[in-house]
Amino acid sequence: YSYTKEDIMKMVADNDVRFIRLQFTDIFGTLKNVAITISQLEKALDGKCMFDGSSVEGFVRIEESDMILKPDLNSFCLFPWRPSPNRVARLICDVYTPDRKPFQGSPRQILKNVLQECADMGYSLNVGPELEFFLFHTDSEGAPTLKTLDKGGYFEMGPIDLGENARRDMVLTLEEMGYEIEASHHECAPGQHEIDFKYGDALETADKMVTFKLAVKTIAQRHGLHATFMPKPIHGIAGSGMHLNLSLSSNKANAFPSETDQYGLAPIAYHFIAGVMKHIKGITAVTNPLVNSYKRLVPEYEAPVYIAWSARNRSPLIRVPFAGGHSTRVEIRSPDPAANPYLSLALVLAAGLEGIREKLVPPAPVDGNIYELNPAQRKKLKIENLPGDLNEAVQEMKKDPLIKQVLGNHMFEKYIEAKEKEWLDYKVRISQWEIDQYLTTY
Ligand code: ADP
Ligand code: GLU
Ligand code: MG
Ligand code: MG
Repeated sequence: YSYTKEDIMKMVADNDVRFIRLQFTDIFGTLKNVAITISQLEKALDGKCMFDGSSVEGFVRIEESDMILKPDLNSFCLFPWRPSPNRVARLICDVYTPDRKPFQGSPRQILKNVLQECADMGYSLNVGPELEFFLFHTDSEGAPTLKTLDKGGYFEMGPIDLGENARRDMVLTLEEMGYEIEASHHECAPGQHEIDFKYGDALETADKMVTFKLAVKTIAQRHGLHATFMPKPIHGIAGSGMHLNLSLSSNKANAFPSETDQYGLAPIAYHFIAGVMKHIKGITAVTNPLVNSYKRLVPEYEAPVYIAWSARNRSPLIRVPFAGGHSTRVEIRSPDPAANPYLSLALVLAAGLEGIREKLVPPAPVDGNIYELNPAQRKKLKIENLPGDLNEAVQEMKKDPLIKQVLGNHMFEKYIEAKEKEWLDYKVRISQWEIDQYLTTY
């Protein structure tokens, strides 16, 4: 669909909407919003709503702080969880500078830039994300605890799966907001869940990813629970991933399948895989943005540790699911749900497009369980590691010119500055593990 200003005014009137949330994200993909009443809607739709960008993480300096929010009309959507009558709707906005140019420090704009490059090459990107999350009990004051809601495992059913009711409400809410839900289930770890929605156009899907987290957290709260997208809340059980299933279309048909290839992939799919593998080290600081992200990227929990691809196994970075036809896709398994979806997709796509332009060829697939290979075997197969911690990832990011080119100077510098600060802050703290190990022994 493609809404006009008149469509929006009509939907607002028909649905008894009283408040509009104008939304955008900061550099970390955190949703921000300002609520306006419908008396200001016309002004907002004309792109005349200003805000102070200097208070938003990674935006601008005080002396150039006036920014404009320009709503994307197609993002109009009601918040099912807010009261009725006097309903609340949202519009996702692009950020513009006072001289009416797209602000290059806006993550959504950065994704749009790469999608334009993709369109210029004759392709469009389809994205199907899988966001995993934990449900924790809250305490008597409503604050989150580390007590998982249940002790269930993969595909667990009730009465052991205690997330059924919350998940049901989440699915119904997401459907009301226009998601086509494909599946929802208990994941491997106690209290861990997943809800999958149908793949679609990259920009719309990135918007859906940020909104998904908002909806899931909101509904969990209504059930007295805390939903978290923190990558690895508990040591010793699986963490939460945000696998990105990706395919390119040309003329509305999937360009990845081939009937004659042994893995069902056309040459451009191989080039795409090779491009992603070439740049993944530099991309990781964005797809795995937290100190905590790297505690998920360890062996044994179905999260990747090594840079390899496979058509069979869930341990490598990239899996080619056994799908075929229009479902042919590559699954990038390293991203976690703390990542900024706009920037993650922009970087992965840019890397894949470079692979296609330069006709890069990936190494042979690794079909065994790579967790079981020893370092000498990995060296022989030339399998490298993903960055081992946030600091290493930031250093890799600095080394890769593609990352700077895609993010632009402004975003590149702000992002690195923030992540180096985060690392330093973490590095100087004394953890419980150190106390337990050392306090009495030494
Ligand atoms: P897994 O096998 O990793 O558990 P799921 O079945 O949970 O995968 O999720 C698969 C995701 O891939 C869904 O979001 C689905 O819509 C998406 N998908 C299917 N076909 C394509 C495609 N051609 N391009 C991109 N994503 C796709
Ligand atoms: N939870 C796993 C991860 O951290 C993924 C499990 C799965 O394959 O669905 O990526
Ligand atoms: Mg999963
Ligand atoms: Mg998956």
